[in-house]
Amino acid sequence: MPRQRPHSNSGDGVSVKPRETPNVPDATAAAAMPADDREPAQVDQPRVRRAIRELLLAIGEDPDREGLRDTPARVARMYAELFGGLHEDPRRHLRKFFTQKYDEIVLVRDIAFNSMCEHHMLPFMGKAHIGYIPSGKVVGLSKLARVVDVVARRPQVQERMTETIADLLVEELDVQGVAVVIEASHSCMTIRGVRKPGSMCVTSAMRGVFRSNLSSRQEVMTLIYGDRK
Ligand SMILES: [Zn+2]
Repeated sequence: MPRQRPHSNSGDGVSVKPRETPNVPDATAAAAMPADDREPAQVDQPRVRRAIRELLLAIGEDPDREGLRDTPARVARMYAELFGGLHEDPRRHLRKFFTQKYDEIVLVRDIAFNSMCEHHMLPFMGKAHIGYIPSGKVVGLSKLARVVDVVARRPQVQERMTETIADLLVEELDVQGVAVVIEASHSCMTIRGVRKPGSMCVTSAMRGVFRSNLSSRQEVMTLIYGDRK
C-alpha cells in the first residue's frame, strides 16, 4: 500500500493542503514519530465539509442555521477518524512478530470494534474473536486488536472484514490455522429497514487447519463461545 498517495482532488477546482493541522491534534506527535510508525491522514476534510453542507441542503435543511453551522467541519473531523484505516496498512502491526515455538491455539476474544457499513454509511459495532495456531511467528496480543481497528475504520461489509483479517494473518504470519469470528449489530438493520434491534450478525472465516480439520475447528469455537452458553 502506498504511504503517500497523491491527492486526487485537483479536478474540483479547489486546492487542498495535504493536511489541515488545526484539526489534527496528533500532527506534531506524528511528526516526531519514527517514519515507520507515521501514517498520513488523507481524508480530504475540506471536501467532506463541502459534501456535508450539500447533503444538508439536499434534505431540505438550512446549513447556515446556528445548530448546523459547525456540523460540516465536525463531520469532516469525524470521518477523518472513522475512515482513517483506509490510509493505514494493517500489515505493519503483524510485522513486529517474535519467534516462539508454540503450536497450540492463541486466542484473543471480545475485541470491540466500530465500523461503517458501506451500503448505508451507518455504523455497525460488535466484537471480533481471533484464534490462530502459529508456526514460529507470534505477535503481541495487542497487535491483533490493532489489525481489527485498522480494518474496521474503513467503509466495510462484515463478511469482507472477517476474511480480510484472516487472510492478513495467513499472509504475514504463515499460521497453521486462523479462525476469525465477528459478531456485530448493524444500525442499518436496527434503526431503519426491518428495524430489528438486538439482531446480531455473525460471520466467520476459517483458514488452514481450522478449515480442514473439524476437531480443530470445534476446539477454537469452544474457546470462543465456551463459557457463554
Ligand atoms: Zn447497511
